[in-house]
Amino acid sequence: MAAKGEMFYAWSADKATQDKGECGGAVTTLLKHALDTKMVDAVLAVTKGADLYDARPVLITDSKDLAKTAGSLHCGTLLMSKLVKKYLDGAEKMKIAVTVKGCDMMGLYELAKRKQVNLDNVLMIGVNCGGSVSPNMARKMITDKFGVDPDKVTKEEIDKGQFIIEYEGGHKGISMDELEEAGYGRRSNCRRCKLKVTRQADLACGNWGVIGDKAGNATFVEVCSEKGANLFSQAVDKGVLKAEKASEKGIEMRKKVEGAMMKLGDKWREKDFKGLGEGAARLKTIMTETGRCIKCYSCIEACPICYCVECSTKKPYLVEPGQVPPPFMFHLIRFVHISDSCVNCGQCEELCAMDIRNSLFMHSLQVDLEKMFGHTPGVSMELPVLALVEEKTERDRLHGTGTDQIFDIFKK
Ligand code: FAD
Ligand code: SF4
Ligand code: SF4
Ligand code: SF4
Ligand code: SF4
Repeated sequence: MAAKGEMFYAWSADKATQDKGECGGAVTTLLKHALDTKMVDAVLAVTKGADLYDARPVLITDSKDLAKTAGSLHCGTLLMSKLVKKYLDGAEKMKIAVTVKGCDMMGLYELAKRKQVNLDNVLMIGVNCGGSVSPNMARKMITDKFGVDPDKVTKEEIDKGQFIIEYEGGHKGISMDELEEAGYGRRSNCRRCKLKVTRQADLACGNWGVIGDKAGNATFVEVCSEKGANLFSQAVDKGVLKAEKASEKGIEMRKKVEGAMMKLGDKWREKDFKGLGEGAARLKTIMTETGRCIKCYSCIEACPICYCVECSTKKPYLVEPGQVPPPFMFHLIRFVHISDSCVNCGQCEELCAMDIRNSLFMHSLQVDLEKMFGHTPGVSMELPVLALVEEKTERDRLHGTGTDQIFDIFKK
């Protein structure tokens, strides 16, 4: 019986799943076992759409269909959490297993806090994540830097710090650092992301720490909850999943890589936030850039934390209707409502019709608030700062200051 905190190398007992899987097919096997034993009613996973750059969510109820979800799509920048809320009734009426990257998982936690998702009915199979590349960027990068027609690429992967492609006629890898220095590579939110190992999911699965003959053929699984331990143990006992204890050397290596990724995340945060300026200068940058907004609402539609039936940005007494670009209040409302809970998933930037760096703006505010109040969104069920504010107490406190500003965060 596996227990919370234990670490394993795992791979599928089925040869076809092993071959199709990214690293031995453990995740696909675990999902199949959960579905076959009726531990869950459905699986929400990801499948290849029109091409390698098109990652599509898919809901599966017959485990025979799981084969098409095996493999990692690094150029698919979708977010799973909002789908659970929006299309699956927040898992209120059905039990669902979901494959989650760090940002998917964090979004689920934020929605669960707000009672929009029932985590008791969700089994989170985490995949560790070093980052993803936007589909357009991937095509451009493969054309410009690899000199290859992106439509000829048959496989992409990110391994040992390299972006690697296989294509008709060969394969080629270029270091991510080199690509990113040249303005290509992972999305900017992914560079700043520090949730690399999905320990708040039920299982955290990835390739870091898999060494020797297991490298590429097995997945490193960290058991993170009782639910995860139960699924993992059952699959091993049934003989569908093969597993052995992770080696000390592998565990150490995984720790080192995770540490290096944290440092890299800090480096990018420093660089990106510095680039925005500070105080009034940052406000000016944000106001100027959001001046391109065409009020398409994509940022709100995509954000896992924006789910309100009556969005304040649509209230005429707050945002005067009929103006493009909308008054800055449109953006201020989102900053006020989201910045303590933003999980830096990048969706509001990725899907912005005007390429406004929404995620960067929101993330910079979130990190400032985290420094002030010590609250990290997405990693536990701890409530966000604003949820803890007692209105009467705050009004009295504000009145006592003799000003209408509690924090002058834009002060020079
Ligand atoms: P499989 O059996 O092949 O199953 C893979 C599962 O991943 C499927 O269920 C599929 O639905 C899901 N999936 C595929 N693409 C996505 C996506 N874009 N979003 C959400 N779910 C998806 N591991 C590390 O240790 N270090 C890393 O840096 C790292 N980066 C990754 C980046 C991305 C974008 C992804 C998707 C995975 C990453 N992984 C990383 C995890 C690793 O690639 C394997 O997914 C993991 O080892 C499991 O392998 P497997 O053969 O057991 O999975
Ligand atoms: Fe992965 Fe983090 Fe980017 Fe999400 S934000 S895709 S978890 S690196
Ligand atoms: Fe994701 Fe943007 Fe919402 Fe933050 S504000 S959680 S980056 S969509
Ligand atoms: Fe809700 Fe505010 Fe987002 Fe509108 S902007 S959906 S009111 S959180
Ligand atoms: Fe404006 Fe971009 Fe949001 Fe559309 S997605 S409303 S253009 S900021």
